[in-house]
Amino acid sequence: MSRTRSITQRLASLRRHNLYRRRRVVEGAQGREIDIGGRRLLNFCSNDYLGLAADPRLRESLCAATRRWGVGAGASHLVCGHTAAHQQLEEALADFTGRPRALLFGSGYAANMGAIGALAGSRDRIYQDRLNHASLLDGGWLSGAGCHWYAHADAADLERQLAAAGEAGGQALVASDGAFSMDGDLCPLDDLVHATRQHGAWLMIDDAHGFGVHGRGGRGLVDAEHYGTAEVPVLVGTLGKAFGTAGAFVAGDEDFIELLVQRARHYIYTTAQPAALAAATLTSLRIAEAEEWRRERLRELVARFHAGLAGLGLPVPAARLSIQPIVIGDPGRTLALSAALEEAGLLVTAIRPPTVPVGTSRLRVTFTAAHEPADVDRLIEALATVLRRLPGESADG
Ligand SMILES: *Cc1c(COP(=O)(O)O)cnc(C)c1O
Repeated sequence: MSRTRSITQRLASLRRHNLYRRRRVVEGAQGREIDIGGRRLLNFCSNDYLGLAADPRLRESLCAATRRWGVGAGASHLVCGHTAAHQQLEEALADFTGRPRALLFGSGYAANMGAIGALAGSRDRIYQDRLNHASLLDGGWLSGAGCHWYAHADAADLERQLAAAGEAGGQALVASDGAFSMDGDLCPLDDLVHATRQHGAWLMIDDAHGFGVHGRGGRGLVDAEHYGTAEVPVLVGTLGKAFGTAGAFVAGDEDFIELLVQRARHYIYTTAQPAALAAATLTSLRIAEAEEWRRERLRELVARFHAGLAGLGLPVPAARLSIQPIVIGDPGRTLALSAALEEAGLLVTAIRPPTVPVGTSRLRVTFTAAHEPADVDRLIEALATVLRRLPGESADG
């Protein structure tokens, strides 16, 4: 078969199975409303949970820092790209997480790949929740360690697997999302801590969706008041979601972070983020920590949404954070529902395999602190209408 023909066939197969993805061109800033295709839609898809991505104070901070630092960082951190702005943000993130040290990465994807690759090698074992984010799963593969998966949020299954490995050589690393990105539920943190302690394994928590949103001052699921580096030695957070900018960090003990500086390929072989971006993130961290009303607003919106779903007789997600899945099942029907919502002026993305397991295609609703209670009511009304109009009523897929 010719190369081009095999590519054409693979694309055609994606279309046939309703798994073809399409980018939308956005014509303005992120916010409660979003401009797409010449229309202004009410936006229920972004991970800008605190509504900070277009905050005037962040814009100003980025502009001011650009006047001081210019735009490009010019080199990697280990060459000459590590500025005082990066250093200051790392110190603030260490403080925020209550850990000795934090290290900036260009993205959460890179942070996970880099941290796992630095920690684990071919003699080691990695245990992951089956629904972990792709970057954790890929990091496991790339490290060359033995890869194991336990049932979603099932620490008992994890314990069985750790016990079965017995005296196998090498180090064991357990990795889990803090809040799961497509379901919005939380990992069983206490049980994971217990299991890893029992078996002398490392625990890595990627709290991309918990930071800013969950816990005291938005400190996330692994608040230092409960668990420090002894229980959760590897803590990952991202900056492009609740904090409204871009990038990510890993926080932990001095020596562990120094090992990442020396060995994490995704840290070493890449240009540092612009210094001005680090400065803007520092501004955003201060706002996220101080403005508790943003987290209160999210709780209110979620409660209102749950009440609305119950009123429609639909299943209410277990998720208490801003990610609210409405599992439909079939990818074609999920796409049709998303298109019908868009016609009604609402943007709610259809999430399909391989992002979620086959048979669990869903509408993934996210709320941000920029939404109003009336926006939730509009969403509930629109859902009632489109679910009535499209065949295959059951939404429990
Ligand atoms: C979004 C996400 C990432 C990736 O972070 P980026 O900064 O967008 O690369 C990693 N882990 C989880 C759980 C995520 O949801």
